[in-house]
Amino acid sequence: MSISVTPCSESQKKPIPEWTQALGFGKFFSDHMFMMEYEDGWKNPRVVPYHSLTMDPASMCLHYGQEIFEGMKVYHGQDDRVYGFRPRDNFARMNRSARRLIMPELDIETAYEGLCELVRADRSWIPPKHGYALYIRPTMIATDAALGVRPANNYLFFMIASPVASYYPQDNDNLNAVKIFVNDKYFRAVRGGTGEAKCAGNYAASLASQWEAKKAGYAQVLWLDALERRNVEEVGTMNIFFVIGDKLVTSPLNGSILPGITRDSVIQLARHQGLTVEERPVSIAEVISGAISGTISEVFGTGTAAVISPVSHIAFCGTEHQVADGQSGPIARRMYADLLAIQYGKREDPFGWTSVIL
Ligand SMILES: *Cc1c(COP(=O)(O)O)cnc(C)c1O
Repeated sequence: MSISVTPCSESQKKPIPEWTQALGFGKFFSDHMFMMEYEDGWKNPRVVPYHSLTMDPASMCLHYGQEIFEGMKVYHGQDDRVYGFRPRDNFARMNRSARRLIMPELDIETAYEGLCELVRADRSWIPPKHGYALYIRPTMIATDAALGVRPANNYLFFMIASPVASYYPQDNDNLNAVKIFVNDKYFRAVRGGTGEAKCAGNYAASLASQWEAKKAGYAQVLWLDALERRNVEEVGTMNIFFVIGDKLVTSPLNGSILPGITRDSVIQLARHQGLTVEERPVSIAEVISGAISGTISEVFGTGTAAVISPVSHIAFCGTEHQVADGQSGPIARRMYADLLAIQYGKREDPFGWTSVIL
């Protein structure tokens, strides 16, 4: 499918923000967006000036949550090329989310070309700074104007772009570790539910727990499985890793865990470097006793936004347990540095993850 491009006029262009930490995450949006509609097939793929959507108040996504999204970053390489990190894997995951919510699948090459055209139009919005990136948010919503719970016939797919700062103020070296909170009252997802789909409803379900954790002074929630309330599943909107003895351990994709692309990349990278990686259930009891005895030397989350987010303390049943010395550990720091080096095209990519977008 050929993608039409309608560039902004000079007067429609927004001022580009300064590339400082004040950029934050998801606060500024670029000049253009990609969109296409679905009715018996995807139609009219196009890059157009960023604009508000008008929609019928009966649009089904507003009532029954038939909405899925993705999150990926585009990087300004030091060689002035523009790199994507496994972007087709994001669109493939979106198709898995779509199947779970009975939504139409994307043609991955059309979506990828749409991404390239959007990035070409908004090239000046990619921060040319290590750790900074243009965050892309592909989104699909049901647009039938009808009440009644059923899969819709009409959909809108769009992508918007937001320049984002590095998660860590002093680039790389000291990843600040965060305190996390185990809540055994609320659960994010359950096997058979939608936990492995990136759908809006999962995040609505997580807000109460996140809110309670924030109020208690914690940065993230550590999610337990909802059936047995025993095994650790994720941390906030990230997958979770433990360094136990000389092994890197992460929870297996059991149906209620979101299959993170950063998670998969850390597993592959660690194995490539000779580390033993285990995907197996990790109980909260094992985590707490490992933190106390010191057999667990590192805990960290993985996701596109932070890449790697080390954990300093875990609060469980009213007691706060420190992980090792409460700082980021060597494996977390190495994974962060090595992934970024590949993402910015500074190091050879033996995995085929990098795609040159421009
Ligand atoms: C998006 C997401 C992740 C991380 O996925 P990445 O592909 O690594 O960004 C992990 N858990 C949840 C719940 C998520 O929504």
